[in-house]
Amino acid sequence: MFWNKSVETMGPAELASHQLKKLKETVQQVQKIPFYRTRFEEAGLRPEAIRSLDDLQKIPFTRKQDLREGYPFGFLAVPLSKVVRIHATSGTTGKPTVVGYTRNDLETWSDLIARNLTMIGLGEGDVFQNSVNYGLFTGGLGLHAGAEKAGLTVVPAGTGNTRRQIEMIQDFGVTAIHCTPGYALHIAEVAEEMGVTLDSLRTGIFGAEPWSETMRRELENRLGLSAFDSYGMSELFGPGVAFECPEKDGLHIWHDSYIVEIIDPNTGEVLGPEERGEMVVTPLVKEAMPMLRYRTGDITMLMDNGCICGRMQKIARLTGRTDDMLIIRGINVFPSQIEDVLLKLPEVGDQFMVYVDRKNHLDEMTIEVEMSREFFSGELQDLARIQKKVGGVLRDTLELRTTVRLVEPGSLPRFEGKAKRVIDRRGALV
Ligand code: ADP
Ligand code: ZN
Repeated sequence: MFWNKSVETMGPAELASHQLKKLKETVQQVQKIPFYRTRFEEAGLRPEAIRSLDDLQKIPFTRKQDLREGYPFGFLAVPLSKVVRIHATSGTTGKPTVVGYTRNDLETWSDLIARNLTMIGLGEGDVFQNSVNYGLFTGGLGLHAGAEKAGLTVVPAGTGNTRRQIEMIQDFGVTAIHCTPGYALHIAEVAEEMGVTLDSLRTGIFGAEPWSETMRRELENRLGLSAFDSYGMSELFGPGVAFECPEKDGLHIWHDSYIVEIIDPNTGEVLGPEERGEMVVTPLVKEAMPMLRYRTGDITMLMDNGCICGRMQKIARLTGRTDDMLIIRGINVFPSQIEDVLLKLPEVGDQFMVYVDRKNHLDEMTIEVEMSREFFSGELQDLARIQKKVGGVLRDTLELRTTVRLVEPGSLPRFEGKAKRVIDRRGALV
């Protein structure tokens, strides 16, 4: 056994003493990083002053911007010679940040991932296709190592050549697949075009971007599998930070390895359970790149109710990140809400793009969406009717008027990795 399973179900007192011990070690470890030494000095804080878990709140936050300023190796607490691998964030919101791993880090990380896979019943006998990018992106090599550790037979498929991916699923009898939810939908679409069903598939692990319950139903129906949500970020090793158990009601977050706080992103105030805000994480198990109170930018809440599986606390599924949110004429809109509306309408497909412009000092949002093939009659009055319906449902849900542009099935871009569906052109015009 590669990890002590009892950690998953530690009681509150045992967990608190474990966390405090690890936190104190982490506070010592970060002193090797000049950024943290300066931070502690500026805050008039000595490392020994962290004596209880509540003392964590005395420590200033670490932001993505801080890591960017330390690019590439400014946040290493060990010499580069002890780093056996580096990864980087996808750079969704700006310059990528670099993450280093010692040999111990790679073991700890793959243990966490193996723990998640085992939780959903995967192990020896499963054939696992890892259909994400194998480069600097943590999802590829990360899941790969964890799956090998849990005893799965790994097919390192990477992304691209979707027909070949489908053939591999068929030829190798793949039982579990890992990719972004968007790419999974594309695999379903291509399989339908090829007229094949993927009968061996039973489990889908989807993550790296937000996806809704509607999307879950769509993926489960079209691919004939059970879909699980997987959350992680490069700065916290990568995937493996939080994962759904078979209850599929929130993601278990591994408190033995990460201390989680939820804050009001505007004031920094720490919020209670069931209050939604930005997740701040202090990893307790990182050697090369320890961090304190890292602001993830991701929005969720700690769930109050336990789980019948008896494992650690859960966070709610992530709706997006603080910087995904579009403010259109004062109204907050997340791209995930748009996706949810469109998925529920049979007249349109699941691919869309959002364009935001500013005209005459007013924000305008245009949503381009593909028609579904069955409704694509080519008759103008049909198009006008569907356009009106889509616009109406979007207006009711988002409380915002948008322009809907219907386009031909298959004409919008498909994404193999993280989707980039929003093009905000306001900055250029103001
Ligand atoms: P980048 O921050 O540049 O995208 P990463 O590749 O490290 O780099 O991606 C981590 C981010 O991806 C998370 O902070 C989160 O915003 C998003 N993410 C990862 N998994 C999920 C998930 N299951 N649901 C929603 N968002 C997710
Ligand atoms: Zn559970």
